[in-house]
Amino acid sequence: MSFEKIIGQDAAIKAIKNMIAQDQVRGTYLFLGPDGVGKRTTAISLAKAVNCESTDCNCTSCKKIDSGNHPDVFLISPEGASYSIKISRIREIIYEASLKPYEARKRAFIINDAETMTEEAQNAFLKLLEEPPKNHILILTSSNMAGILPTVISRCKMLKFNKLAQSMIQEFLRSRNFDEGQAILYSHMAMGSIGRAIELKEMDIISRRDEIINNFFFRKSAIFRENVLRGSMEDDVEEELHILLYWYRDLLVYGFTNTEEELLNIDRHNEISSYAGRFSKKKLQRDITSILKTIELVRANVNPKSALFNMAVELKRG
Ligand SMILES: [Zn+2]
Repeated sequence: MSFEKIIGQDAAIKAIKNMIAQDQVRGTYLFLGPDGVGKRTTAISLAKAVNCESTDCNCTSCKKIDSGNHPDVFLISPEGASYSIKISRIREIIYEASLKPYEARKRAFIINDAETMTEEAQNAFLKLLEEPPKNHILILTSSNMAGILPTVISRCKMLKFNKLAQSMIQEFLRSRNFDEGQAILYSHMAMGSIGRAIELKEMDIISRRDEIINNFFFRKSAIFRENVLRGSMEDDVEEELHILLYWYRDLLVYGFTNTEEELLNIDRHNEISSYAGRFSKKKLQRDITSILKTIELVRANVNPKSALFNMAVELKRG
């Protein structure tokens, strides 16, 4: 079985293996937990396991699923500018589920980020979630249960996925040929998510962070500071605000703990420890609120220029 490569989710994997061993895999599942901790990989592994023709997942069925070419395994993700799963997509699933599987023992639908289903889509889905045909399984994954209707949740068997320990992520990154410095740094910045660690590396986050922190945090002029963030691609503003958020978060965390252990920007701990004491915790909390508010505004497509300027002014206050 291919569950071995999923790390840090022993309870969920054990429950799944038991269900497989007892031939109890049926109905609808909700895999709930933070982003990037293995929910989707586990869902795919489950679809493979219930259809595997061998013991080592080296069969035609597993290979088709791995390459995304299995006619009975569907991966559904949010799409479009609204980043949502619409009712039309759910209707396609309902239609597909009314047919017999083409070749699988169990046809599988994996709905990623299920909280992005529109309310309409969720309501249309209820009947199928309640009782999928015997040879079908449905797996919803989500990091945000608040976005899912209670009527949907009550129809699912829930499996919880955990945030991963920093040491686990560090170990994983080492096994993926990250050099030692990167493995330490990214595992701290990843906040419990392997997916996030890999994403950070792909974004070359360190040089961007250094540019933002050096030009924003260490400068005095609010106008200049606003330009640091505004000068970049529009899509990136949110990411850059998060970089700034993590920096202020570290200052506050250090203010409370006086240790480096919990820092995300672990490679710049010297500056964090020296600057943390220069600001009151109250100011840092206010700054963090201000950054979070700005992220919300940018997300809501409010003119980023004025939102960023206001934030830059607020962060400058003593
Ligand atoms: Zn197989």
